[in-house]
Amino acid sequence: MIPVTLKWHHPLRDVVVPAGPIDWDSPADDQRRFTPLTDEVRPLSFTLTNLENPISVAMANCRNFQDFRTFINHHGFPWEKDKAEVWQLISNTKDLNRYLAACSHPPAAKLETALLIRERFTIESDIHFSPRTGNPELAVKVTTPFEFMCLEVLYAFEVGANFQRCERCSNGFLTGTATGRRNTSRFCRESCRQAALRHRNKAQEDKGNVGK
Ligand SMILES: [Zn+2]
Repeated sequence: MIPVTLKWHHPLRDVVVPAGPIDWDSPADDQRRFTPLTDEVRPLSFTLTNLENPISVAMANCRNFQDFRTFINHHGFPWEKDKAEVWQLISNTKDLNRYLAACSHPPAAKLETALLIRERFTIESDIHFSPRTGNPELAVKVTTPFEFMCLEVLYAFEVGANFQRCERCSNGFLTGTATGRRNTSRFCRESCRQAALRHRNKAQEDKGNVGK
C-alpha cells in the first residue's frame, strides 16, 4: 500500500471526561462531550507504513470512558480537532470492530466491507520523506484520525492480516504480515500471555494438591 500520512494534534494536558455511565446500546442521542482540559496542544504526525500499533485497533478496544480518555490523550480526537461527542466515539468504536472483524471473512465479504469503508474517507496525494529510505516518496494524505483508521483496515485486508481476540482479556489484535505478530499468537501482549501461564500453573498445582 502507498504510505498514508496525517497531520493532527492531541491535547497537551488531559481531557474532561463526561460524568455518568456509558450506554452502548442506544447512544444515538448522547450529546455529552469530551473536551480538552486546556487549549494547549501537541502536534502529531501519523504515517502508515505497517500494522504494528494500529490506532484502529486501539479505538476498537475502547470499552469505557477511561479508555476513550487514554485514546484521545495519545492520538487526539478522532474527527474534530477539539472535541468528541459520546455518540460519535461509540459509533466509531462499533464501526471499527465491524470493519476489523471482516479481516477473517472470505474475499467477497471483505470486498463488500472495503467498499463501505471507501465511502468514509477522501484522500489527496502527498510527497513526504520516506521513514525507511529518507528519500522523497509518494504518499496519500487524509485529514482525520478516523480516516487514517479506515486506511489501516484496508491495509490489513490487503496483506491478509487476521483480527483475533486475546484469550486472556478479549482485546482484539491483528496478526500476520506487517503486524509484527505470528498468526499463532493467542494473546494481545506479553503480560496477558504471562498471566495466562500463571493461571494455568496455579490450576495444575491445585489439581495436584487435591490428588494428594
Ligand atoms: Zn490480552
